[in-house]
Amino acid sequence: MGKLENTFSWSFSAAADFDECRRRRYWSKYGMWGGWEKNASPETKKAYQLNKMDNRWGLMGQAAENSVMRVLRQHQAGNPIDAETAFETVARLFLRQKWTESKRGEWKTDPKKFCCLREHYYGTMGDEKAAAEQMSGQIKNCIVNFIGKVLPRIGKITREQELPVKTPDMGGDPESIEFKGVKMYVIPDYAYRVGGQFHIHDWKAGKVKESHREQLGLYALWAREKFRAKPDDTFLYVEYLNEGQVAPFQMNAEDFQTLEARIEDSVAEMTEYLVDFDRAKNAPLPKEEWELAADPASCKNCNFYELCKAELGK
Ligand code: SF4
Repeated sequence: MGKLENTFSWSFSAAADFDECRRRRYWSKYGMWGGWEKNASPETKKAYQLNKMDNRWGLMGQAAENSVMRVLRQHQAGNPIDAETAFETVARLFLRQKWTESKRGEWKTDPKKFCCLREHYYGTMGDEKAAAEQMSGQIKNCIVNFIGKVLPRIGKITREQELPVKTPDMGGDPESIEFKGVKMYVIPDYAYRVGGQFHIHDWKAGKVKESHREQLGLYALWAREKFRAKPDDTFLYVEYLNEGQVAPFQMNAEDFQTLEARIEDSVAEMTEYLVDFDRAKNAPLPKEEWELAADPASCKNCNFYELCKAELGK
């Protein structure tokens, strides 16, 4: 296999990281690059390991998502399962495996393969039992709401109607589009087509956030670029599974303009942190040029705290 190249890319989460803390973007895109190599520097190896770290909220979201997708697949196969079965056979097993890997420190041998929870790593989990119970309760609630409120809306969709989405767990490069010469990672949770209409859903196991609309807006852009979906024929749904609510919306021409301007501004700002403003070379300015977080509260829940600690004077 040829040498992997660190190409310039944009995603909703990359932009969110960059906006909150330039240094965090540096670590997650450049500082970690090559950290899987045996001869990488200790700092690069550490950045790579910290970049791979998960957290209890992310884990909860993945467990909920895996569970509702199992419910949907079983339903489509004509072999429906109830919430308890979905929780026991999917979420519980997943959580147990990840939790154990994290507690045992298995990630020390391979940070990409084994889970490391930020809360375990930095000792911020608090009461383990209470945390596990809270996560289990919320996931079960998500599955119950999915079966009661989402499945009746999407249960008749067939596999043939679904739009293929390459997810990170498939291996290889995840779903992306090229927009104005920039590679953009866009990974919708569930998308399908009914005649000329496109429907895109995103599962949220956590709280309602305004930023979710922007994230879904990006999915509309994905459908437009990839499938020539017209804005009038594109329907977006933020599915708040724990709340049992859905926020449906569509993007009009003005919304697209706002979104595209936001992406262009963000890409331009990121480009300022590259040598010669050259996205093709994608060589970062020295680490010190990537400012630390303006708000120290951002550091409290940041994977890279260990690498910034000395500079932050903590
Ligand atoms: S620890 Fe703070 S300064 Fe360092 S990357 Fe994280 S948020 Fe930024």
